Amino acid sequence: MTTPFLEVDNLAVSFPTEDGVVKAVAGSTFSVSKGRTLAIVGESGSGKSVTAQAIMGLLNRNFADVSGRIVLDGTDLLQLDDDQVREMRGSVMAMIFQDPLSSLHPFYRIGDQLSEAVRVHNKVSKTEARNRAIDALHRVGIPSPDKRVDDYPHQLSGGMRQRVMIAMALINSPSLLIADEPTTALDVTVQAQITELMSELQRETGTTLIIITHDLGVVADMADEVCVMYGGRVVEYAPVNEVYYRPQHPYTHGLLASVPRLATDRVDRLDPIPGNPPSLINLPSGCVFHPRCSRRDEVSGDRCRTEEPALVSVATDHLVRCHLAQPGATGGAR
Ligand code: SF4
Repeated sequence: MTTPFLEVDNLAVSFPTEDGVVKAVAGSTFSVSKGRTLAIVGESGSGKSVTAQAIMGLLNRNFADVSGRIVLDGTDLLQLDDDQVREMRGSVMAMIFQDPLSSLHPFYRIGDQLSEAVRVHNKVSKTEARNRAIDALHRVGIPSPDKRVDDYPHQLSGGMRQRVMIAMALINSPSLLIADEPTTALDVTVQAQITELMSELQRETGTTLIIITHDLGVVADMADEVCVMYGGRVVEYAPVNEVYYRPQHPYTHGLLASVPRLATDRVDRLDPIPGNPPSLINLPSGCVFHPRCSRRDEVSGDRCRTEEPALVSVATDHLVRCHLAQPGATGGAR
């Protein structure tokens, strides 16, 4: 892997609540090189969206306790003040959310919203901003963009609205784009079109992309590297083929086994991971995955229940947080 464009090092995010402190992220470590696509996968509550919000500076610092390092092209984002982060958001880095209806203002024409995004970061005339808006709509495949630019969000289909969100995110040519479950709210055929569009635009623009998803099909289609999160931790990080063909963490094995696959003459039996994701207020002791892990008793000395495993390297660019990844963990040969 080349020099990282984005480096997240030991990121931790917690929120005080009436019920206790929610430890949403505790030990998020990964990197992504310029122009590459990193997929962050995991169940709800694994910390993937909070990690993205921390990168984008969207967490309220009066409420969230954020520590660690997030270095984007040499700048530690956690050291910037709110104004500096706001300046970077929408220009250097941008985000696409799952639900375009909640991100697009229903009372304003899409062209006005796109033009506004241009004018916030560039000193250009209204006409120039509108022309850029039309051009952006054209790039994301909106038909008759010079007419649709005057539509309101409700006049567009879900797939078209998501295209508008992609246009909005890319309109200032950001170096980093984060897409948080960008296809989840869409039907299957439109999902494939949006996935293809994002890959195509990324190839054209060279934007570094982080895609947050629970859909391993999207991961296989788009990612160069994969970061698997569980209970607020990165539990496995590796190039996409390593994750698919040589997964090392029992949770990654479980995720892959729970995906439907069409075999040549039958549908393989699904093997869901037993149990539920952990409470982020009362995390299990030791390895946070141990209550659901079928291999916990293979590790000698009951360490899975008592000792949190470290993130260790098992191959080039392949990190795993599991005692089994360490030599001698089973008390005999692995
Ligand atoms: Fe399972 Fe133990 Fe590895 Fe955790 S450390 S994933 S409980 S084997």
